[in-house]
Amino acid sequence: MRLVLLGPPGAGKGTQAQILVQTYGIPQLSTGDMLRAAIAAQTPMGLEAKAIVDRGDLVSDEIVSGIISDRMDEPDCANGFILDGFPRTIAQAEALNHMLDRKGLHLDAVVEIKADPDILVKRIVKRAQESGGARADDNEEVLRKRLDVYVQQTAPLVSFYANEGLLRSVDGMAPIDDVTGAIKAAIGGS
Ligand code: AMP
Repeated sequence: MRLVLLGPPGAGKGTQAQILVQTYGIPQLSTGDMLRAAIAAQTPMGLEAKAIVDRGDLVSDEIVSGIISDRMDEPDCANGFILDGFPRTIAQAEALNHMLDRKGLHLDAVVEIKADPDILVKRIVKRAQESGGARADDNEEVLRKRLDVYVQQTAPLVSFYANEGLLRSVDGMAPIDDVTGAIKAAIGGS
């Protein structure tokens, strides 16, 4: 199964991806995690990405498309994967379609986790407090920026994937287990 989880920062994509990893035995491919690892390891890509990630902007489409394509070629992706945080722009969605075509693969579904921006701000502020500031981009100002970027650049993917007949939407404001249940029901037929 090859899935995309779509939704604003703090909507629960990462949480749901981790649960789905257990259920379906396929890996979560999070571009955010990969970028944070590259930043921590101070690789050339990490050094280039750091300032961009810290201020809540998007890293270039070429960088993230490249790391995702390479990651998909690893053996643990043979039976599928859950994309968390990629694609985030129409250009990335088009790059994803091309890379899947080249690899002879296709997406089974794109799950949109719908969420209320005001509640998201509260959730992320709480996450920042609980993690003791582990993520430099988890503060209210950067979050508002990331929500803005989501609305401008990522939300258009909802109609992009609706046009492709792949979109399934679930209510991300429900309790975690209910969201998981809704996702499983939404992708059950695929
Ligand atoms: P996330 O963990 O998915 O919230 O991502 C954290 C940050 O990493 C984002 O705010 C961006 O700066 C960067 N990032 C993650 N995924 C992408 C992507 N697909 N395209 C561009 N930038 C990304």
